[in-house]
This record gives sequence, C-alpha cells and structure tokens, in this order.
Amino acid sequence: MKSSLPSDTCPLCLTVGEYIEIENAQDASEWDVAESFPQEADQFTIPNSCLEHYYRYKNQRLLRCSNCGTYYWYREWAPGGSEDVLKTYIHESMRRLSFLEAHVELHDAQYQAFTRAKEYGGSFEDEYEITRQGVQQEMDLLKARCPEIVSDVIHSVENKHARSEQLEETLKLYAPHRDHTSEIETQREKDEQVAVYHVGILAEYLQYWEPSTIPMQMIRSLVTLLADDNQKIREIIRDALIRVIRDATAHGKLASEILKVAQELAVQHAETQGLLQVCREFISGN
Ligand SMILES: [Zn+2]
Repeated sequence: MKSSLPSDTCPLCLTVGEYIEIENAQDASEWDVAESFPQEADQFTIPNSCLEHYYRYKNQRLLRCSNCGTYYWYREWAPGGSEDVLKTYIHESMRRLSFLEAHVELHDAQYQAFTRAKEYGGSFEDEYEITRQGVQQEMDLLKARCPEIVSDVIHSVENKHARSEQLEETLKLYAPHRDHTSEIETQREKDEQVAVYHVGILAEYLQYWEPSTIPMQMIRSLVTLLADDNQKIREIIRDALIRVIRDATAHGKLASEILKVAQELAVQHAETQGLLQVCREFISGN
C-alpha cells in the first residue's frame, strides 16, 4: 500500500525497513548465535499503556514508532514441519502498516475485547473498558493522519480486486483443469465487502479534514469513485462529498469543481446524478 509515511525520514524506521524477520532456536544453547532485531526496533512499543493490557498474552500485536508515530505489526510464530525435528525455531517479524491498516487493527482490538466482555462478563468488562480507552487514544492521534488514510482507501478501492485476481492466477497455475469460478466469486465478494468497509472509514476521516485544505487532486480521485460498480461505495462517496461541499466555506467554488469532474465520468450512475443536482443547488445558492 503506497502512502507518504513519516517513516521516509525517520532514522529508526529507515533502519528497520518495511518488513523484517528473525529466527531463533527455541531452546538456544549458548553457542547458538541469536538473531535479533536492530537496536532501533526497541523504540517500537505498544502504542499506549491501556493497550499493553490487551496485547499482553498475544503473539501478534500493534507497535508504534516512538519517534515518528508509524505503526508496525509484530508477529511471533513457530512453523511446523521443520526439517530438524529436534529443534523448534521461533520466528518473529515486524511489518510496517499504513495508517488505514493501523485503524483497522485498532478497530479489531476493540471489537475482540467487546465480544469477550459480552460473552464472559466480569473482569472482561473491565478489560474492554481499558482497551476501549487505549483504542480511543490512538484513534484521536489518527485523526491527524486523515490525508494518508483517505489516500490509502482510494488506492485500496482502485485495486479492490487484487486478492481475487491473485487467487485466480494461483489456481490456474496449480490446477489448470479445474473450474474455480465459485472460489473466485467468493473471494470477489469478500473484496467488495472490504472495499465498502474501507470507504466507510474514508467517510469518517473526511469529516476531520478541513475542506479548504483538501487538495483538488484528492477531490477528483473521490469523484472518480462514483463510477465504481458497487452501489454502496457510490452512495457513501456521494454522501461524503455532499458533506464536504456543505462544510466548505466556499461552497459554490468547490461545487463547480466537483460538477466539472463528475460530468466527465464515463459511467453516470444515479448517485452521480444526485451529486450533480446538489452541486447545482449549491452553485445557484451562492
Ligand atoms: Zn519512525
């Protein structure tokens, strides 16, 4: 996922890179040379103390660079079927996340804690409350990242079928004579659901963005999503754009810009027509 992260300039993030993996024998004897993450990665920590509680027994967790705020996903695992049956190797990795991915992980943490509280009650309810506060602290920080998140979502929707296309390629390669239609169709539906979920996140973050500071290029990319084949996506984008025009100080100017781009779309769905109508009203009202 491409986006301009502060990690481009952060010395810690530059050293660790986008992905790093190490491997160590579980019962390492003293003459085994232990692999470790670069020292800079010590500065990647669980984002806040409320979340420490949530991640304490998990072998996957969210980390944040204490220097620039970039998020990482830490994972620890022991692959089965090792060649050396007498030794177990522990793998550890850190993967840089986009701010959109960080939002999704935080949302998931809160959801997991909520589900457990609902199922077991008692101390899990306290744990949920602490997790919720921890997630909220990070979500407040993420509001400042709305340009990155909106751009991540646009990129994600433009490439929404990457997963099913990849699956199709793999299946054709390894089992060329079987019919894969239903598996690919199932993955395509999942891709659509993810895209709709992401667009919902986009709409949320767009509200934190002062309309006059949204670059015109970004507005154009948003309008272009009105040509998407998914009706839910088009509806969310239409409503989000209407809110942006309404909240803008120069309603008329923004409405004319949006009108210009929307009119040029090759496919004119009902949502585009709806937006055009609203744009015209804003223009004539100014
Ligand atoms: Zn950093």
